[in-house]
Amino acid sequence: MFALLPTMLVSQQIDLLIKGGHVIDPKNGRDAVMDVAIEDGKIFEIADQIDPARAFEVVDATGLYVVPGLIDIHSHNFFGTETDAYLSNSFQALPPDGFSFRAGVTTIVDVGGAGWRNFKTFKRQTIDGSKTRVLAFLNIVGSGMKGGAIEQNLADMDAKLTAMEALQYPDIVVGVKLAHYYGPEWMPTEKAVEAGRIADIPVMVDFGGYEDPLALDTLFLHKLRPGDIFTHCYASVTGRVPIVDERRKLRPFVLEAQERGLIFDVGHGGGSFRWDQAIPAVRQGLKPNTISTDLHTGSMNGGMKDMINVMSKFLNIGLTIQEVIERSTWNAAQVIKRTDLGHLDIGAGADVAILGLHEGDFGFVDVRGWRLDGDKKLVCELTLRDGAVVWDLNGISSPVWEE
Ligand SMILES: [Zn+2]
Repeated sequence: MFALLPTMLVSQQIDLLIKGGHVIDPKNGRDAVMDVAIEDGKIFEIADQIDPARAFEVVDATGLYVVPGLIDIHSHNFFGTETDAYLSNSFQALPPDGFSFRAGVTTIVDVGGAGWRNFKTFKRQTIDGSKTRVLAFLNIVGSGMKGGAIEQNLADMDAKLTAMEALQYPDIVVGVKLAHYYGPEWMPTEKAVEAGRIADIPVMVDFGGYEDPLALDTLFLHKLRPGDIFTHCYASVTGRVPIVDERRKLRPFVLEAQERGLIFDVGHGGGSFRWDQAIPAVRQGLKPNTISTDLHTGSMNGGMKDMINVMSKFLNIGLTIQEVIERSTWNAAQVIKRTDLGHLDIGAGADVAILGLHEGDFGFVDVRGWRLDGDKKLVCELTLRDGAVVWDLNGISSPVWEE
């Protein structure tokens, strides 16, 4: 560090230079070994070669991928101390900073923890104090995702009040969530879409839970709008029609729905990602639009683990590294209409993840406990949030200790 000081005094204009990494920046079509310069918390320059003498600090990213900070659009982060409150101000929801940066995630989206009645508590308690950028989908249920009977309360699903709260916080609230409703009515879906229409934001549905299940083609083609999000897309659960049938064939209307703009989101979770859905679906052409975790205590300690583990699963079932990165960055940003995020535009905030792609023998477990053996696994080496190092697995941004 001291050796660099004279340079800094003369012509230093770069705070941090990431040198020699393979940049994947889908929005800008970058997919090559390039240097990335960061100044004042922003992307300053990206070029084939940038002189390290211009930089105050250099990170050697040789052999690693340099990508936009990951965006996890399905997470549960309204943590708190209420008992029996499921994912709303509860123990099962997780504080963002403890679980985001170590997996390369710089933007995390809580989907439905809070409704319009308790969003301000969530904002004050979690969002305002987190280094991670925390965004939110408001639950169509005013009391949020408190589980059980509270989520079945049709009288607490108010499109107008949900939209009003969303419009009051346009920088934070990026969508409306419907989840866990068990019943034959379409009314909850329609209320969520109505709130989304008023506030001009997408709706995410964690759909189903009724015997006989409601028609999935009706949901896809008639109830949801282009840009709305079908999460847990590779789940097979009681009360919901799975997208892959019992003969392992993708249902015919699924690709049509995706072509019409419906967003298929992974939302892995503790019960919503099965190999017998994901593998046939991907083989038959249904790649997810967005990769996400459905992070909570029940998923992170099971087969889901974290964002890069879910991304690794898709590398091992046929998606390329470029496809996986796109679905975890730029696609996600577009889906939540936050096109200021998910890319390395010059001048953009320097949210960056540096990932290693390891080759070897690895196991990946789905929610039923089936293990898929794979040979590729992503590891998050370094994460930057607005240019600041917030995670560094092997100290590649630190000077080497000398006796
Ligand atoms: Zn969830």
